[in-house]
Amino acid sequence: MINASEAEWLHLDIMDGRFVPNISYGLDIVRAVNSVCTLPLDTHLMIVEPEKYVDAFIDAGADILTVHAEASTHLHRTLQQIKEGGARAGVAINPHTPVESLFDVLEDIDLVLVMSVNPGFGGQKFIYRTLDKIDRLRTEITVRNLSVDIEVDGGVGLHNAEKILQAGANVLVAGSAIFSSESPTDTIHRMKSIGSKAT
Ligand code: ZN
Repeated sequence: MINASEAEWLHLDIMDGRFVPNISYGLDIVRAVNSVCTLPLDTHLMIVEPEKYVDAFIDAGADILTVHAEASTHLHRTLQQIKEGGARAGVAINPHTPVESLFDVLEDIDLVLVMSVNPGFGGQKFIYRTLDKIDRLRTEITVRNLSVDIEVDGGVGLHNAEKILQAGANVLVAGSAIFSSESPTDTIHRMKSIGSKAT
């Protein structure tokens, strides 16, 4: 049994079978989780045309709502929509998307989710070139004196957490590293202690 309260946020991966090959779950599960979980729900939409579902996911309980830059044609408008709905606005980018593509909307973003694997499946290996991307993004955020979280998702575990945090990320998503470990609670503790040393 996993004590999710040891984590600071709960990350929910929503997959539609179109933007990514897999289908995971949708609004009903977010609503159900929200009814039993007091942690902020960090909701990652891997779906096409996310703007159509922004209000529904916020109503279901999403505290942070992240859309993919590649899936939202009018990203600036989508970000405003998320904020007007009362959630924090996140933008995710796939491994091939340069962070620089977000620089013209950086002031409107609360969180950038840097994908360190191709989205759609758990258990993939971390792509190490992502570290350079995180570094470029953190530099830009610092230069502009903004308060934007940098979250990293995909292949994150005890073996690379320190490097990722040192590159400039401040939010780590861990799935397989937690759920496949002998003691998930202990693994969360160890990741958090790496985090407190690195920052
Ligand atoms: Zn995710």
